[in-house]
Amino acid sequence: MMNTYPLLVSQDLVFRAKETSLQSSVSVMVYSLSGLEQLSEENVAAAMAVVEETGLSRILVTDAAGRVLYDTRETNGAVGDYALYTEIVQALLGYDAFTCTYHDGAFRSWASSPVLYQNQIIGAVYAYEYDTEQAELLEGLQSNLLRLSAAVGVVVLALSLLLSVMLTKRIGRLLTAIRQVREGAYSHRAEIPGHDEIAQIGEEFNSLTDRLQTTENARRRFVSDASHELKTPLAAIRLLTDSILQTDDIDPKTTREFVSDIGSEAERLTRITEDLLRLTRLDSGVLEPAGTVDALPVLEQVMRMMSLVAQEKGVELTYHAEEGCVVRGTRDELYQVIYNLTDNAVKYSAGAAVQVRLEKRGGQVVLTVEDRGPGIPEEDLPRIFERFYRVDKARSRAAGGTGLGLSIVSDTVRRRGGTVEAANRPEGGAVFTVRWDAEKGGGQT
Ligand code: ADP
Repeated sequence: MMNTYPLLVSQDLVFRAKETSLQSSVSVMVYSLSGLEQLSEENVAAAMAVVEETGLSRILVTDAAGRVLYDTRETNGAVGDYALYTEIVQALLGYDAFTCTYHDGAFRSWASSPVLYQNQIIGAVYAYEYDTEQAELLEGLQSNLLRLSAAVGVVVLALSLLLSVMLTKRIGRLLTAIRQVREGAYSHRAEIPGHDEIAQIGEEFNSLTDRLQTTENARRRFVSDASHELKTPLAAIRLLTDSILQTDDIDPKTTREFVSDIGSEAERLTRITEDLLRLTRLDSGVLEPAGTVDALPVLEQVMRMMSLVAQEKGVELTYHAEEGCVVRGTRDELYQVIYNLTDNAVKYSAGAAVQVRLEKRGGQVVLTVEDRGPGIPEEDLPRIFERFYRVDKARSRAAGGTGLGLSIVSDTVRRRGGTVEAANRPEGGAVFTVRWDAEKGGGQT
């Protein structure tokens, strides 16, 4: 493009300049012949002698039949012959003709015009120019352009090579990092300097790997915690059965005690596996289709159930609930949330009062469960919703806890777009607050 376009434009310019100059020379000659009634070798020669030197390579003047009357070529002149060149034929038919070509380092141009006497064609003037001067200029331009484009080509090639080497090196680093992480080296990070798109992909990849590592760590901890939790009751069952089997003359009362302990451990195992299954279902993201649930009857059911447990522990359990608190979810999910929070409050409040409130605030339904127990140490508050996290392991176990209750609450609530938070009351005791968007309508009960 760089070479051809300027050349074609310059060539075209030269063609046009040639057409103008050659045709004006022909016009001058036609003018000098214009007074003649008939053309003959003599009168044409006389008229042409007056025409100034034109510098043209050849000039021919023919009569109306195309016979040459005048020729500037000294050797092999065509005077007396018929010169039926295309341009001459055109001129004898009454037209001006012009042709120009450029090849073999020269411009060749031909022009012709008819000579008229009283509107009768009496002959034709034909001029031919052979020009190497302008052709040389054009060739100079062409070779300069060639050199220039070769230089540009080399620079472009070098730059693109450099760029592609830089690019493939950086992509290579990213690929290595992806492969390493795929093989399980989650701590590997892609080190890509700069701020361009590849560096940004590297950063995105690193943050993705961070998340992957966090998830993987959480999964490993969960599996190890879960196996540990399951191992403890299983070990107790094993110990109790061994004691019964290996002790001779064991009295029936002790046997009954041991078997009852085995029963409680089995119950504990059941609770843990039920909670684990619930969490796995929540993790899988396959939720039961959500409807709307009126929270009041569910809360009342939990309170009826928990009042017996509270009574047994000497806890004063009171509640205050508004009507028309409708939330998104299923009845079982809501029951589980209210139950787990109230159960914890009763379990950990050490005989003090527990108050549950359900109310509508703004566009939200708010459930608060507060107790007057020892509360939760500030440093444990951020981790309280983690799986198997307990402030006091022994106490939680003794109280029959699995360490999964609050995780189930938080996962269930979050899956339905709600929030849950834990805090300590200034007067002492813990308070858990759950917020859902309030739904319209009666909701299923
Ligand atoms: P657990 O089955 O042990 O009760 P949770 O997930 O329900 O497990 O609770 C996690 C831990 O949070 C408990 O072990 C307990 O230490 C603490 N906790 C929960 N609720 C309360 C509360 N109302 N008062 C004090 N501590 C609490």
